[in-house]
Amino acid sequence: MDNILNIVWFRQDLRIEDNPALFKAAENAIILPIYILDDENANDWCMGEASRWWLQKSLQSLNKSLNGNLHLFNGKADEIIPDLIEKTDATGIYWNRCYEPWRISRDKKIKAELLTNNIKVRSFNGSLLFEPPNIKKADDTPYKVFTPFYKKGCVENGPPPRELVTNLPKLIFKKNISSKNLSDLSLLSDIPWYRHMEEIWSPGEKGANERLNQFLEHGIQNYKIGRNRPDKEFVSRLGAHFHFGELSPHQAWFRVKNLTQSSDTKDSIEHFLSELGWREFSNNLLYYWQELPENNLQKKFDRFPWINDSTNLKKWQHGLTGYPIVDAGMRQLWKTGYMHNRVRMVTGSFLVKNLMLDWRHGERWFWDTLLDADLANNSASWQWIAGCGADAAPFFRIFNPIVQGEKFDPNGDYVREYIPELSQIPTKFIHKPWEAPEDILLKAGIILDKDYPLPIVDLKLSRERALSAFKSLSENN
Ligand SMILES: Cc1cc2nc3c(=O)[nH]c(=O)nc-3n(C[C@H](O)[C@H](O)[C@H](O)COP(=O)(O)OP(=O)(O)OC[C@H]3O[C@@H](n4cnc5c(N)ncnc54)[C@H](O)[C@@H]3O)c2cc1C
Repeated sequence: MDNILNIVWFRQDLRIEDNPALFKAAENAIILPIYILDDENANDWCMGEASRWWLQKSLQSLNKSLNGNLHLFNGKADEIIPDLIEKTDATGIYWNRCYEPWRISRDKKIKAELLTNNIKVRSFNGSLLFEPPNIKKADDTPYKVFTPFYKKGCVENGPPPRELVTNLPKLIFKKNISSKNLSDLSLLSDIPWYRHMEEIWSPGEKGANERLNQFLEHGIQNYKIGRNRPDKEFVSRLGAHFHFGELSPHQAWFRVKNLTQSSDTKDSIEHFLSELGWREFSNNLLYYWQELPENNLQKKFDRFPWINDSTNLKKWQHGLTGYPIVDAGMRQLWKTGYMHNRVRMVTGSFLVKNLMLDWRHGERWFWDTLLDADLANNSASWQWIAGCGADAAPFFRIFNPIVQGEKFDPNGDYVREYIPELSQIPTKFIHKPWEAPEDILLKAGIILDKDYPLPIVDLKLSRERALSAFKSLSENN
């Protein structure tokens, strides 16, 4: 054992439990756990501000679980790793696979170089239930449509999700290797915008498990219907925990599958599992269509006449569009680093269809502000909303923010929480304050266009404009 030193390279698997790379590396060997902040290779897709706050906390938590033995580095992994191996005489390196295009090409390069130097390189499946190379159609091409992908490709015919890895060997650590301090990674900006986040989120493996437990106790029973209600607490809010790998989808999958199913909960359980399936589907799309974050999958959208309007973009970003459900969502995102899925769809549709701003503006803003910002889920979801993706919502499906608000936030509680200036408006007008009579607005203490904006676009006209722009794509075909 004395002679064998394995490096464990943590990436999007910041956990101890169910971590195949860690388990295998620690069998009969000393380990050196490392994390590298590799902004250079990530380039355009290096982590946004919100993710960096989460990462800082998550690394602290992981370091604690490793008794202070996590070694941190900052720079190009393809330079740091060979150098570290030479300095430490490590004989092997172990990691769990990641699926973003830039990580795949970087990891391939590192692997090839190390193998020529007789270093053992072992990679494992840590973060997907159904890895893309294993899920193909009968004609050996990848799936483009969710339902057959999930039902036929994954659940019926795919290799089943791997078993959980249990009984972690005793960890013996290599000591005294020079590395960076957490503060050297400069993950936090000088402006402490994240104070509020600290009150509501608990990054790290412990926080992830607590959140899962809470969801299984209080949310899952009503998930199927309740998941559409931003004013209620029926969703898991596990997105960032999954993204950083503080909880594997396998841990969630088996916990949920093993719940006692009654006729009341069966549909909710199935539905939650299928949402994990959407995460798999996004990763599958990104794996096979590496341009997903940048380019329209449907090429005809390259001709779409997007409107370049930075004023409207700013109003959308800051929750000042005059449509309460849209503004509440954008302010929830800014304040908490999270936005409910239903509202992500409404705000996304509003940006792309009513304002006719390019979906990539929305994708970028979410990338910077979401705590669960995830290259696969974010880009696949934006292409879905814009109608230009593989299995996208048809372009003509334009969410009406008033109808969506009245249906999914019927009492206006969600809007009132994030737009306090509207808090005294009666429910009848909460999703369309401009229709409220003067005396009601006066009583509610609000002057429209001063305390809260009037709508920045007309819904009917902007809808017609979007539909005719879309129609022009087909005519030009
Ligand atoms: C425009 C837009 C952008 C999005 N950007 C992201 C993103 O950057 N990162 C991200 O994780 N999700 C993204 N989503 C998908 C979805 O909104 C979030 O996964 C979900 O809201 C996270 O909250 P939750 O954990 O409470 O979800 P739950 O409903 O509790 O779902 C549990 C888990 O299933 C997965 N999941 C659920 N819905 C989806 C979905 N539609 N697509 C893929 N995976 C899903 C997530 O991992 C989620 O944590 C986006 C959706 C839209 C419409």
